[in-house]
Amino acid sequence: MVHLSEIAKESQTHRHRREKREAEASEASANVYGTHYAVEELPEHAMSEQEMPASVAYRMIKDELSLDGNPLLNLASFVTTYMEDEVQTLMSDAMSKNFIDYEQYPQSAHIQNRCVNMIAGLFHAPTTGQAGSEQDAIGTSTVGSSEAIMLAMLAMKKRWQNRRKAAGQDWSRPNIIMNSAVQVCWEKAARYFEVEEKYVYCTETRFVIDPATAVDLVDENTVGICAILGTTYTGQYEDVKAINDLLVAKNIDCPIHVDAASGGFVVPFVKPELEWDFRLEKVVSINVSGHKYGLVYPGVGWVFWRAPEYLPKELIFNINYLGADQASFTLNFSKGASHVIGQYYQLIRLGKHGYRSIMTNLTQIADYLTSELGKLGFIIMSEGNGRGLPLVAYRLPEEEGRLYDEFSLAHVLRRRGWVIPAYTMAPNCNELKMMRIVLREDFSIHRCNLLVEDIRQALKSLEEMDETMIKRYSTYVQTHATRGPQGHPVYRDEKHSLQGKTGKTHAVC
Ligand SMILES: *Cc1c(COP(=O)(O)O)cnc(C)c1O
Repeated sequence: MVHLSEIAKESQTHRHRREKREAEASEASANVYGTHYAVEELPEHAMSEQEMPASVAYRMIKDELSLDGNPLLNLASFVTTYMEDEVQTLMSDAMSKNFIDYEQYPQSAHIQNRCVNMIAGLFHAPTTGQAGSEQDAIGTSTVGSSEAIMLAMLAMKKRWQNRRKAAGQDWSRPNIIMNSAVQVCWEKAARYFEVEEKYVYCTETRFVIDPATAVDLVDENTVGICAILGTTYTGQYEDVKAINDLLVAKNIDCPIHVDAASGGFVVPFVKPELEWDFRLEKVVSINVSGHKYGLVYPGVGWVFWRAPEYLPKELIFNINYLGADQASFTLNFSKGASHVIGQYYQLIRLGKHGYRSIMTNLTQIADYLTSELGKLGFIIMSEGNGRGLPLVAYRLPEEEGRLYDEFSLAHVLRRRGWVIPAYTMAPNCNELKMMRIVLREDFSIHRCNLLVEDIRQALKSLEEMDETMIKRYSTYVQTHATRGPQGHPVYRDEKHSLQGKTGKTHAVC
């Protein structure tokens, strides 16, 4: 026999269910901004208990992201902001494939190997020419140049250690020689893998490594010298050949790694006669960012070795699929296959002619922008005519009584949407301030002229501002211009890096 109170309870449950269904139905048909989500804060610290409709989550996140800068106007970064529609489709199709799963996705692995061969060819890598092997160059895709550099650092260290051990010598104090203007990932690589950093410092007039000083610093514990093909500050190419020739002349057994993060996809097309790569006998490894002038969205990079002896076997793990081994040398394991696919598309879609056309256009536009900025009175710090990356690094002339600086100019330009960073040069350069405009594929001469006009207007409005106004501007940019994340409070006061120690600020990527 069913008790009356039981029936009442049941109908109460029914009513609740019905009400919930009705509420959900009205929520589902409501306009996103008519739901209760529009008047509640989004979850920020703890996961919420309940689901939210896909349309609401999509809209809320999309709206928030509109506060990020417009990538097209971000002239601070080398990283690709434009790809053709066709490749976007290919890349989103590949997003659900795990690149490391060679057994399930063998074609993605084959495609990586083709990219390795093609890019290594641009760098004149000697081919190992092993009969029947599909990949004749030694290299791998990475997440970006940072991972590539970590791997190259490990390989140099391991090889040095193996040789020291074999000779019964002390192998506990490896060091690496590099310019103090290195990208921050070199500091990381040295710290993470316990290699002592030996810097060749820049001066007020020299922003690239001094080859003689670098070679003089080499000792029995040196695992290698890093040379940069296109420093992030001024885009200048370091003189790899001079370092190579000095090492050869002095009969010093020390390898060179070339950090060609940006230059690797520019120099082969714009200055093919420049010798910086595996044509030089001391160059044992090279990295390049696929997502910079390789013209792929972030993040993909590549690293190559001259010969198997420079990539010690114990660092390689063979992953077997269908009876064939695919060698794996990475810091991470799973990653999406999209970027490798995107790189292959660009390589076969553009061919050498396509890359050459884009890179020479950019070089030409950089030269034009250089001359326009010169006319506005700026001091140019970068090289033109394809002798450096397609970027313009510049600063304001010394001028008695001028109230504004590069930081305030950056802020005024930001109001219009342009992101052009001001930063402080590498240590020992008298805290030189400078600005840098990076030209990417999508920077046509028309946009260049719009920018020049905006810089002219910005200078004019700065001339008209009084001291307190300008002071507010200069400090504003350095302190809270973008309201960016602050990092965990425990780690905020970092004092061990070149930035922490010397006030060097890093040009972004
Ligand atoms: C960008 C850059 C890096 C870091 O590369 P990612 O691809 O961003 O990881 C390292 N070195 C140089 C010279 C660079 O320009």
